[in-house]
Amino acid sequence: MTGARGRPRPRDDVALMEGYHSPQVDVAVRLNTNESPVPPPPAFAAALDAELADLAWHRYPDRAAADLRRAIGELHGVGPERVFAANGSNEVLQTLCLTYGGPGRTAAVFEPTYALHAHIARVCGTDVAVGERDEGFALDLDEVARVLGDNEPAVTFLCSPNNPTGLVEPEAAVRAVVELAPGLVVVDEAYGQFAPWSALALADDDAPLVVTRTYSKTWSMAAARLGYLIGPPWLVEDLDKVVLPYHLDSVKQAAGRVALRFRDEMEARVAGLVEERGRLSAALADLEVDVWPSGANFVLFRPRSVDGADVWQALLDRSVLVRNCASWPRLEGCLRVTIGTTEENDRFLAALQEVLA
Ligand code: PMP
Repeated sequence: MTGARGRPRPRDDVALMEGYHSPQVDVAVRLNTNESPVPPPPAFAAALDAELADLAWHRYPDRAAADLRRAIGELHGVGPERVFAANGSNEVLQTLCLTYGGPGRTAAVFEPTYALHAHIARVCGTDVAVGERDEGFALDLDEVARVLGDNEPAVTFLCSPNNPTGLVEPEAAVRAVVELAPGLVVVDEAYGQFAPWSALALADDDAPLVVTRTYSKTWSMAAARLGYLIGPPWLVEDLDKVVLPYHLDSVKQAAGRVALRFRDEMEARVAGLVEERGRLSAALADLEVDVWPSGANFVLFRPRSVDGADVWQALLDRSVLVRNCASWPRLEGCLRVTIGTTEENDRFLAALQEVLA
């Protein structure tokens, strides 16, 4: 593993990995990581302060996070036994891969999609079978059948709305994948509240299907690192064997519970962002760029006559940070902009107009 004074070597597969990069740069207009542009309401902070006043700092947190899971379950009309929560939906995905993936097993993804599905699977020692989406980035069910038939994946990842394309998977396609899949189907709905339908309707006590959600986007709580899944109770029991004991700290459990009291405010924020999304998409359509229709809080676009990387840099020079999607398969020259406040969106559009002129 090491020479006499050598540095310890990581696993061979880890040594070859690129890691996941998304620059955190100090800019005036930050539209690169699909966060909410505004914090939760002041009443949330006040209510959380009141809860924290009674916190037993000397005790481990409730290991089962029972109150939090009950509150999340109530939000979705299911019991706590069907809720698994962790530190961001990324940790939910990681726990799924540790439990159902791993050496000798395969996970399937359909590119382009959220890069962390494949990355987390690989970090957990899972082989990754990569299928291609069609030209418009929709799922191609023949391709899905081929990839699932050839690879017998233990885990099949879908993402709806898909990051970074913004496409909502049609309900019929998700149903078809659940029928075809030999193992677990994960529908990542990090942006679920922005979309017109949810796969939550397909999850029940038996189906080998989980839907993952996050507090990071619609709930304006990216700082808290909290996500969850809704799935069958037997799956939640399996995950509980794998996740570290006391993985959810008491502050986070309280924050997650208290946040759900402000659902109306969350829905109002989502409605506002959806309206802004329409305005921004329409404005982009008038520029020299290709735009993809989005059901999320971001929009994918590709400048037609200028290189995407140059546009990314020129926007950054104007203190506007968007996501450069060039490293994603099939997205050369593409950029992804998060929907911000009206003012931020205006600044982005003005900067882009100037750059493309
Ligand atoms: N899934 C998707 C599709 C995402 O875009 C993100 C955030 N970029 C996540 C999961 C992870 O979110 P978090 O870990 O903050 O819950």
